[in-house]
Amino acid sequence: MAAETFPLLMRIVSASVSVSKRAGNIIRDVLKKGELGIVEKGKNDLQTEADRSAQRCIVASLHRQFPKVAIFGEEQLSPYEKIDESMIEAGFAEEVLKETCPENLRKVEDEEIVIWVDPLDGTSEFTQGLLDHVTVLIGIAVKGKAMAGVIYQPYFNYQAGPDATVGRCIWGVIGLGSFGFEKRYPPENKNIITTTRSHSNRMVTEAVEACEPSEVVRVGGAGHKVLLLIEGKVHAYVFASKGCKKWDTCAPEAVLHAIGGTLTDLCGVPMQYHHQVQKGNFGGVLATLQKHEWYVSKIPNEIKDAFRQEPDGGPVQMTRL
Ligand code: AMP
Ligand code: MG
Ligand code: MG
Repeated sequence: MAAETFPLLMRIVSASVSVSKRAGNIIRDVLKKGELGIVEKGKNDLQTEADRSAQRCIVASLHRQFPKVAIFGEEQLSPYEKIDESMIEAGFAEEVLKETCPENLRKVEDEEIVIWVDPLDGTSEFTQGLLDHVTVLIGIAVKGKAMAGVIYQPYFNYQAGPDATVGRCIWGVIGLGSFGFEKRYPPENKNIITTTRSHSNRMVTEAVEACEPSEVVRVGGAGHKVLLLIEGKVHAYVFASKGCKKWDTCAPEAVLHAIGGTLTDLCGVPMQYHHQVQKGNFGGVLATLQKHEWYVSKIPNEIKDAFRQEPDGGPVQMTRL
């Protein structure tokens, strides 16, 4: 059946799965060539040719298919740049279109949707060769809420031997579920917490310690950390910093919520993703598969106070962190 006959949201998810795989190829090709073209965007904030090329491909492809939908990508690239036709992915993933769209999402219209694109999450780790930390994130928000997401992991299985299929795509829609992985619960007798590897500070460490971890797993990428959660390798993702952005959390949040998990700020307040929202997650990030309220209760009030947000998602006050 032609893709046009499916509900808009499912077409966007389907096109996003398809283009995320193309972006994964682009990322692998850049690394294989070895010319990373590293640019320092800010303190501890890198961009490579893989980030730039993957974003060009994702944004141009989705814009071609869905010209009326707002798309925000992490990288600031010139809107006048001519994109080579060969960079446009026109495919729709059948694995998505064969699923039934949840009733409440059948009639969603272009103007209600915002797509948040992180073409390469975990850039720092990518440049250091920690390749399984890298993901491509495409989050789809409807009326300001993360409703669907795609997490492509281009180096999944890359050390598993010559016969292994490298790369995997995980996608989910709230009300339908998440696909492409096996959901597992973490061990009950432990409390494993994951947090940043490359953007730590005193507050980040204090918030993690306050959650009484039996073990702390410091890895790169918001996408990668949520993969650890949904596969039962960790109990919570705790990040008491304002450095994470909407494109880091939209896709992982949708995939996590679609299987019954929760991603909020440190006070337990849901994230917003409408087109006028501030791009930073100024309330920090707290994600769990279970017992979310317990983790919220463990975050000390001084930390919560430093991360409270205005109703529009902006910071209440600028605090020195
Ligand atoms: P991390 O857990 O450090 O990999 O961070 C998750 C995502 O948030 C990555 O895309 C980071 O680039 C981004 N991020 C976190 N903290 C900062 C920061 N201080 N400056 C820039 N980006 C950050
Ligand atoms: Mg990122
Ligand atoms: Mg990125």
